[in-house]
Amino acid sequence: MITCNHQSSCGKASVIKYGRFYRCSESRWIQRFHCKSCGAHFSAATGTLEFKQHKRRENLPLMRLLASGVSMRRSAFLLKIDRRTVDRKLIYLAKKAQQRHQDFLQKLKSKVTSLQFDDLITSEHTKMKPLTLSVAVDGDRRTILSAKVGRIPAFGLLADRSRQKYGPRVNDHQKTLKAMFEEIGPTIAPTALVQSDEHPRYPEFVNRYLPGREYRRHPGGRGTIAGQGELKKKHYDPIFILNHSCAMFRANLNRLIRKTWCTTKRAERLQMHIDIFIDFYNRIYLPTKA
Ligand SMILES: [Zn+2]
Repeated sequence: MITCNHQSSCGKASVIKYGRFYRCSESRWIQRFHCKSCGAHFSAATGTLEFKQHKRRENLPLMRLLASGVSMRRSAFLLKIDRRTVDRKLIYLAKKAQQRHQDFLQKLKSKVTSLQFDDLITSEHTKMKPLTLSVAVDGDRRTILSAKVGRIPAFGLLADRSRQKYGPRVNDHQKTLKAMFEEIGPTIAPTALVQSDEHPRYPEFVNRYLPGREYRRHPGGRGTIAGQGELKKKHYDPIFILNHSCAMFRANLNRLIRKTWCTTKRAERLQMHIDIFIDFYNRIYLPTKA
């Protein structure tokens, strides 16, 4: 049943078909409608996220490229579209991916029996402005449950220079962990096994958001070259699925590769790119491996 879907929608079902138009960019006929109640005219495209897009054909190819280690500029070059089109489509694809991911989490309710989580460090613009990425994965299914980006102050040798040059920097780590646990909370079974490394912040979050779950902490290890520093040099890694997912992030998101010259300029856009990757990985990539 079609209801009135115009911008100033009355929401009523008093809708009749009212011709159609041909969308050249997709070679498709699109049905138009007329609302007898408020007099509005609209089409099957009204109200969708794709409304007014001219390059719909490139949406899926672009998603595949952006989730496969190709830079935004190179994606534009390969698809013969403008780099600003890619920029706008990153926002659209992220919204679409977030919607699909919420549906995906809804279906997982209380079904996850093995949770692994950790943080991945990257930066925006310069290493003196680091970002953290809190990641949670399903240890049985390998799916990525959540990944949240936040700003953190520079640490180690760069800390002093960073403060001199850019001033004090906020620490969003608590926020990213909170957002991550709030997103995944409903999916975790009461009998689940929760695993992470020995970061001192973690136990308080597990106790608050996942009370009663069995929680194991494991010492970290030295990274290997092959796994982008995320896969560890030990024979048995209890949080391998998590570390492997982090390695997949780094290998398939161009801007997360270590020593890359593609860097994130805005943390918000990194979050969008990550949301696109999560949807691609869970929905398109992993099922082909099963
Ligand atoms: Zn109406």
